[in-house]
Amino acid sequence: MDTNADHRWMQLAIDKAKSALENGQHPFGAVVVGPDGQLVAAEHNLVEQDFDASAHGEVVAIRAAGKALASVMLTGCTLYTTCEPCLMCGSVIIRCGLTRVVYGARATDLRGYTSTLGLHVEEVVEWANREKLNGDTPITVTPDFMRDECLELYARWP
Ligand SMILES: [Zn+2]
Repeated sequence: MDTNADHRWMQLAIDKAKSALENGQHPFGAVVVGPDGQLVAAEHNLVEQDFDASAHGEVVAIRAAGKALASVMLTGCTLYTTCEPCLMCGSVIIRCGLTRVVYGARATDLRGYTSTLGLHVEEVVEWANREKLNGDTPITVTPDFMRDECLELYARWP
């Protein structure tokens, strides 16, 4: 695990979340990095702009990454996201075969928010790994990465 690279990519996700906030969107940024460490997609939440409840930062980034790689599967890719993925995003993460997820703030850090159905992404991924939904490559989750920096985003969110 390259911590310097993790910092660089999470900072990019934070920068995307900041630009979301400046554009009246919810401050959730997400970045997809390819197996060779190259940037594939950097996006943010578009729920308000697109009137689309499914346009979470992670989903927007995964859609962009699929188009960029011309592949439904993102095997070997890492997703950096400023907040713990919800259950919907967790399902998409499993469906597209992402190999690693790095997140900043926890869902329970957000005012008035809890994990969807009380399930944390770690539990969803643990189940997927047990069922071998990702073949022999388990999905790994790195929680609380640059959590304080991510929490600053949510402190600024009205
Ligand atoms: Zn989500």
